Amino acid sequence: MGWDFSAWLRQHGAEVEARWLAVVQELPAYVALPADERLSCWHPLVEALLADQAEALVERARQWADREMRERGATPSELLSITEGLSQATRDLLPAEEGTGWANGHLGRLNVLEAALAHCFAGEVERLTAEKSQLETLYEITRELTASLDLDRMLHRTLAEVVTAITAEMGAVFLVDGEAGKVVPETTINWNREGIPLAVVPSAWQLGQADALLALDDLQTERTEAWVETLAGPNTHSLMAAPLVANGAFMGLLAVASHRLGAFAPTHVRLFRAVLSQIATAIGNAEVYRLITQQAQELGQMLRHQQEEGTKSQAILTSIADGVVVNNAEGQTILVNPAAEHILDTTGEQSVGQDFHALFSAFDAQGREEAVAAMEALLGATASDVHKVFKMILEADSRVVHAHLSPVLTQRGNFLGVVTVLRDVTKEVEVDRAKSEFVSNVSHELRTPMTAIQGYTDLLHAEAVGPINDKQKRFLKIIKSNAERLTALINDLLDISRVETGRVRFEPRPTQIGEVISDVVNALAGQAEAKHQSLTYEVVAGLPNVMGDRDRLNQVLTNLVGNAIRYTPEGKKIEIRAYAVEGAVRVDVRDTGIGIAPEDLGHIFERFYRADHPLVQEAGGSGLGLSIVKMFVEMHGGRVWVESEQGKGSTFTFILPVAVQAEEEDQVHRIPPRLMARTRTILVVDDDRDVANLVKMQLEDNGYRVCVLGSGRSVVAWAEEKRPDLIVLDLILPDVEGTAVLRALKENATTADIPVIVLTIVSDDGTARSLGAVDYLTKPVDSEDLLRSVEKALTWQGHVLVVEDDADTVGLLSVAMHQIGFTPLVAGNGYEALAMARRYRPNLILLDLRLPGMDGYEALTHLKRDAVTQAIPIVAMSAHVADAEQERKRLIALGANSFLPKPFSIEELLNEVEAALQPVAGPAPLQ
Ligand code: ADP
Repeated sequence: MGWDFSAWLRQHGAEVEARWLAVVQELPAYVALPADERLSCWHPLVEALLADQAEALVERARQWADREMRERGATPSELLSITEGLSQATRDLLPAEEGTGWANGHLGRLNVLEAALAHCFAGEVERLTAEKSQLETLYEITRELTASLDLDRMLHRTLAEVVTAITAEMGAVFLVDGEAGKVVPETTINWNREGIPLAVVPSAWQLGQADALLALDDLQTERTEAWVETLAGPNTHSLMAAPLVANGAFMGLLAVASHRLGAFAPTHVRLFRAVLSQIATAIGNAEVYRLITQQAQELGQMLRHQQEEGTKSQAILTSIADGVVVNNAEGQTILVNPAAEHILDTTGEQSVGQDFHALFSAFDAQGREEAVAAMEALLGATASDVHKVFKMILEADSRVVHAHLSPVLTQRGNFLGVVTVLRDVTKEVEVDRAKSEFVSNVSHELRTPMTAIQGYTDLLHAEAVGPINDKQKRFLKIIKSNAERLTALINDLLDISRVETGRVRFEPRPTQIGEVISDVVNALAGQAEAKHQSLTYEVVAGLPNVMGDRDRLNQVLTNLVGNAIRYTPEGKKIEIRAYAVEGAVRVDVRDTGIGIAPEDLGHIFERFYRADHPLVQEAGGSGLGLSIVKMFVEMHGGRVWVESEQGKGSTFTFILPVAVQAEEEDQVHRIPPRLMARTRTILVVDDDRDVANLVKMQLEDNGYRVCVLGSGRSVVAWAEEKRPDLIVLDLILPDVEGTAVLRALKENATTADIPVIVLTIVSDDGTARSLGAVDYLTKPVDSEDLLRSVEKALTWQGHVLVVEDDADTVGLLSVAMHQIGFTPLVAGNGYEALAMARRYRPNLILLDLRLPGMDGYEALTHLKRDAVTQAIPIVAMSAHVADAEQERKRLIALGANSFLPKPFSIEELLNEVEAALQPVAGPAPLQ
């Protein structure tokens, strides 16, 4: 037997064991095992080695390997390492002579073991090799997929790899074509079928949920659904297909096919699965990439487009004649075009980057203030009123500029700033003025020849220069009536142009409207008689006086009654009624004539508007009469309106505020002089101490606050700072001429409005008045004269708009306002108030909050929003408040200057009026 392996092993077992331990402790499956457990793995191997027959050896070796793999997770390569290690150890440990024996066959066992294990692991090794090659293929594919975002190229190369790796002959990637409702081949290899409708693709695939893979070994015999056959086509035996799903979305299909039966082994299926998600992700990425590229391109295009538009806008801005200024939301100027530079008398360099306050410095004070206020309003606008637009007229020396300020908003309504468009309208204004002048001149010039024509016609008609026949008489009558029409037209034109050029003479004094009515009726009786009309009037007894200019009122009535006669058929009647309504006098002119169509009613007070009615056309006329009526009635603080029914007649009505009767004044509405004097500060400039003190005392006794200055030099500075309500100025002063002081006061914008009464010993040569003094008194002055003069100078001048629908209150307010020197204007509702405030720009508005139609709150908001009316102080009044203090706060927040809860005394009214007028510093300049 020679060398006995069993004996040798028994003898050298410990060393071989040590070798075993050395080998296994390197192997992952054994690393964590304690030494005795590692050895317990060794014993079965020893048993196997000692088995007698070769088959038994192989069998035991397999059992051992199985157990090792199962229980310890050893891998085939680890087990091979172990057997190799043991062979090596055995060889190392055998003595040389024994080795010869081993070479002779005794140790053949080890070889057998090694071979057995190698055989046993052959399948595993093959699988690993295949796995390795698959991994390589996958790696290749991943590399392809990530190498490029060019979807076509990438998909084709990937598909080629897949088809090769799977040993298929055909392959295709299908992508969803949403528009066509199909999945269509995107890239193919030997695949020439069309796409398939989306509808037939399993819905689980389309929902992106399914990882179900379709693998068929024999399409020709296996029963499959129709769409699969369409997909695969004829001559195909094996088919593998699965959905491509990226981010949960169904992107398309991957399919490979072969002519062979059962062409796809499990390894192929695994590879196919692995590739599937890679391709889907890559398609998803490419789609994202395509979207990003597309967006980038679109953005690029937009940018180019915007640049082009920007260049165009710039070119337009540079070349247009209108000035354009843009300010950002912080009020900084960011753009001034050349026209604006010219109009604002500035340069871009000076203004860009600057705050807007200096922008309008080229214009006069009023314009500057208006523009700055508009800009402030726009910059401070809240989201809801951000759409405001301000229009105003700015004047500078000889130029007139229309300014239009509006907010710049994004499409989403975000506020970016303010754009100001400036248009120089000096020429237009001049032309307009010239037109008015021209109309006025021409009218004047026409009157003289008209007088001659009318006069001589009368002479001829009266046969003063010889007899004429009937025909001649008739013709002369025609000439006369046309001359009269022409004269009337000329007079109308003159009236309008006078009002327009501000040259109208308006001298209101207490007037009995009944007298005016009777005058007019007498004058027009002949015309009515000629048409057999009955023209009657009724004036209620004891009607109060109105404050009116008799000539103007005569004209108002003449126009209304004249129209009534003209537009009433023969034989019908015309009635005039005058009666008192609370605080005002109302006059109705009622006719039974043709009436006015509803569509004309809104227009008849417009200039040159005439209804399209045969009788109107036949009657001839200028269409100016009613616009003059409206103008004159409103100048009186009254209102005019019409009610009419076509075919039945019209009633024209106007109301005028009543005048204050002397006795009434005493009883009811007398305003104590002390009340008016209260809080007024008067500066007395006189170097004669005695005179100065005397004047001071007289004035102080009557409630004025008085300051005295003994020299002229400091007067302007003092007045500028303290803004007295009145200055009493001596002309003879120790340091400077009194006239020089007066001139300086009037030239200074801050002090120009302060009235100055001259009180001096030199007699009046007219110089002081020409320099702007309101009165001239000579020393020694009578105390009464001084007080009268002071009181007169301190009364407010200008207009007060009374917005009130209660006639009683209108009367009371009109009287009170009239007494302190204002001319009252009356509006009965919010709409009228807005129109009249814009038109007359009154010095003050007394606004009732409860009004028909647009109420006082709304009117207040509008008045404060409109740049034209914004600065007008407003006293709000109301009888319907629970908490007056609360209401006052609310109204002041809305822009009112003060609040007057009803009922109020005259004293309270004057207090509030004065409070409201205080901030505008003293009386308005004389008009
Ligand atoms: P004129 O009478 O010169 O045409 P007005 O300004 O006085 O111009 O009147 C404008 C228009 O109003 C008239 O053309 C007429 O259509 C209409 N109108 C005025 N008064 C009456 C009236 N009493 N009855 C009917 N229509 C009238």
